[in-house]
Amino acid sequence: MQIHAIKAFSDNYIWCLSNSQQCVVVDPGDAQPVLDFCQNHNLRITGILITHHHWDHTNGLPELLQTFPEIPVFGPVNPQIELVTQRLQHHDSLMLPDLGLEFSVIEVPGHTLDHIAYYTDGLLFCGDTLFSAGCGRLFEGSAAQMFQSLGRLAALPADTKVYCAHEYTLANIKFALAVEPMNPALLEYQVWAAQQQTQQLATLPSSIAKECMINPFLRCDSTDLRNAVEAYWHTPVTDDESVFAGLRSWKDQF
Ligand SMILES: [Zn+2]
Repeated sequence: MQIHAIKAFSDNYIWCLSNSQQCVVVDPGDAQPVLDFCQNHNLRITGILITHHHWDHTNGLPELLQTFPEIPVFGPVNPQIELVTQRLQHHDSLMLPDLGLEFSVIEVPGHTLDHIAYYTDGLLFCGDTLFSAGCGRLFEGSAAQMFQSLGRLAALPADTKVYCAHEYTLANIKFALAVEPMNPALLEYQVWAAQQQTQQLATLPSSIAKECMINPFLRCDSTDLRNAVEAYWHTPVTDDESVFAGLRSWKDQF
């Protein structure tokens, strides 16, 4: 099995899991780049995974289903995403027989309330919940919900590859360095990410191990980080969840 990043809009990635003939795409916000990719690689779409209801993750559905009718569309229990055929909740599993994969579903509310992530041995498709060196904005959920959701992802095996839905890494690193200017792994990661971008290469997938070293939103138990949040907001912080909330609102105005 191969995994390709199909670029869409300015910074979205539509992840495409394929064998030699069939593929499954994750969060097709736009149909055309996906159809072009399938044509160029002689691939037939046999399933679609949706992580949440935002248009830049779902708008390609009608056109893709015209070309590939009657394929399963997996997604959250949210009637707003009308074309989902199989609605999934926490701990549900789904089979992609063509690719020989079985995913389990992790509910990760925060960015939106309906957000789910898809996990299988070594692979995580997390939409707009976890980004490299960052996390999604809180459009619908609370900081407490997002903190718990990120905790669920951080608890996955360290070597899990993390496929995020946007290329936000360099901008996220800028904020992460404002919070943790002396984190050596982060400084090293910035050099690498800048090189990737200069060569127009994706910085993704990341990994859970990497994110635990460089992503401030997964490092809320760090004393340095807590001190930084307290200094920024001029107020004492009592627990990791409050560190997260302080970080998230700091990033919102960064
Ligand atoms: Zn979103």
